[in-house]
This record gives sequence, structure tokens and C-alpha cells, in this order.
Amino acid sequence: MSENKRIADMLGRGKPVLSVEFFPPKDEAGGELIVRTAMEIRESLRPDFVSITYGAGGTTRERTLRYARILKDDCGFAVMPHLTCVGSSRDEIAEIVEGYAAEGFCNLMALRGDPPKGQTDFQPHPEGFAYANELVGFLSKRFPGFSMGVAGYPEVHPEATDAATDIRHLKTKVDAGAAFITTQLFYDNAAFFQFVENCRSAGIQVPIIPGLMPIRSADQARRFCKTLPEELEEALRIAGDDPAALRETGVAWSHRQIRELLDFGVAGVHLYIMNRSGMARDLIDRLRQDGYFTA
Ligand SMILES: Cc1cc2nc3c(=O)[nH]c(=O)nc-3n(C[C@H](O)[C@H](O)[C@H](O)COP(=O)(O)OP(=O)(O)OC[C@H]3O[C@@H](n4cnc5c(N)ncnc54)[C@H](O)[C@@H]3O)c2cc1C
Repeated sequence: MSENKRIADMLGRGKPVLSVEFFPPKDEAGGELIVRTAMEIRESLRPDFVSITYGAGGTTRERTLRYARILKDDCGFAVMPHLTCVGSSRDEIAEIVEGYAAEGFCNLMALRGDPPKGQTDFQPHPEGFAYANELVGFLSKRFPGFSMGVAGYPEVHPEATDAATDIRHLKTKVDAGAAFITTQLFYDNAAFFQFVENCRSAGIQVPIIPGLMPIRSADQARRFCKTLPEELEEALRIAGDDPAALRETGVAWSHRQIRELLDFGVAGVHLYIMNRSGMARDLIDRLRQDGYFTA
């Protein structure tokens, strides 16, 4: 068992932090893939930390812990497990985090989560939490040694009535003890810059880490993003069904996005890699050639 470094401390050292996100695989083949990818990434990307998601509907409690352990103890990463309020009472949540603390973890991404499949509205557990700010408040009192991240939405959370209300809610998470914000993915930096400005005007001062995913197809991107910039739509149209051209379009767009974000002064970049290393490696190679993320 190895101890982890706190992400809040990494963010305070004045140079951008690189992180990647994994999801817990469902089967043995997926298990082999994540370990292979993690080992490869450790050598090539050398991220400052990695995160591992918590399954939709709260379904992967054991699998998240299992792979968080592998990423920390076998691969040597600083790891941030995600945790949602879905289907858990306060006591169950406390038990999960006590388990993490006992194993040397000290970072968490604290989320409300989405309603389980088949439900439209989020129904909190009767003895649980209705919103992420309640989870953050509970955990920061009970586990003050943990460094906690929360989710932010440059294109506004789908359930929020408007951007200002969404940011007011985001501030409650920060006021409850979150050390940083990681955003939902986006392809239009203008949305992120506006989001940061709105956060700062609302008094949110913690680091805001943009979450990015090299685009693989317009359909996939639209599951998370309301709009794609016209220029990106055009590049995807030109790439058509050619896998090599699509891949190059995805890497080139993210490369441009990240350069602009780093020049803007973001505290870090979080990559949604979908348990695969190829595009992320090409992307970071290009950024290192430009002088970013060098040791
Ligand atoms: C970086 C990142 C990582 C993620 N990882 C996971 C994961 O591992 N597993 C998973 O299942 N999902 C994950 N998600 C998705 C996330 O669970 C969903 O987007 C979910 O719908 C909202 O979670 P939240 O923590 O942002 O919720 P909240 O911050 O609670 O917000 C949910 C909605 O309620 C509103 N709201 C917040 N507080 C209040 C209040 N006090 N009163 C009224 N309205 C309020 C907000 O404006 C928003 O519309 C992730 C998202 C991001 C951006």
C-alpha cells in the first residue's frame, strides 16, 4: 500500500498539472486494457494524477475501489477516486471513504451523480444527499485530510435553469470545502473562458481544470456537448469516415485547444481518455514538442 499526494498541493506549485481519467472496466478484457493503458501512460504521458469514475447509478463501488487500488499500488499513480451520492446513505458513504483513507488515498471527486437508468429525476437516498454540496460539506468535516474536487459545466448543467443559477450552486460546493473544479468536456474554448469569468465574478477562487477529450466522432461528442464549433464540424465533415483523418482531426483540435488554455493560464488539464492511450499520447507528444508539460 502506498500513500498518495494531495491534488490541492500539486495545484499550488505554480505549473500546470496533467491528469487523465479512467473508468472501471466491466470484464477481464477491459481489466487487461486498463492496466496496459495505465502502464503505458505512466511512461509516456507521466500524468501528475489519474482519476477513476464511479459507475452510473452507483453501480461500481467495488470496481472503482479495485481499480483505484491497482492504479495506486501497482502503477504508482496519485489517484482520485470518484464518488457519487446515488443510492447511498450517509453511513454507507462514510464507510466507503473510511476504506479509502485506510488504504492511503487522500483525494476524491465528489459528485451527486445522474439518476439511474429509467428515472428522469434524481431521487436522493432517504438518508443520503440531494446535491453534491451536501456531500462535500459532510466529507470535509468528517475527512479533513482529503483534497476534494467537484464538477463544473462550461455549457451549463443540463438540469440547471440558467448559467447564473448553476454557478451559484457550484459556489456552494466550493464553500463547502472543494479545493478545485474539473469541468465537463467541451470543444469551444470560448465557453470555458466565459465560465471562468462567471465563476470569478461569483467569488469562486479555486483552480478550474478544463476537462478535454480528443474528439473521435461528432456523435460521441454530442452526447456531452451542446454545440461544436463550426470549424470543427467542417473538419469532421472533411474527415468523413476515414479513421486516420478522424483521428488526426481529433488530436489536432485538442492540441490547439490545450495550447490556448495553457497560454490562458489554466492550473491543469484533465484528459478523458476512455481507457485508451493512443490519441492522448500523440497529443501530449505534440504539446511537449511545443514546450508545454516538460519536466
Ligand atoms: C469532472 C466530472 C466527473 C464526473 N464523474 C462522474 C462519475 O464518476 N460517475 C457518475 O455517475 N457521474 C459523473 N459525472 C457526471 C455527474 O454525476 C452528473 O453531471 C450529475 O448530473 C451532476 O453531478 P454534480 O456533482 O455536478 O451535481 P450537483 O453539483 O449536485 O448539481 C446537479 C444539478 O443540481 C443543481 N443544484 C446543485 N445544488 C443545488 C441546490 N442546493 N439546490 C437546487 N439545485 C441545485 C445544479 O445546478 C445542477 O443542475 C461527472 C461529471 C464531471 C464534470
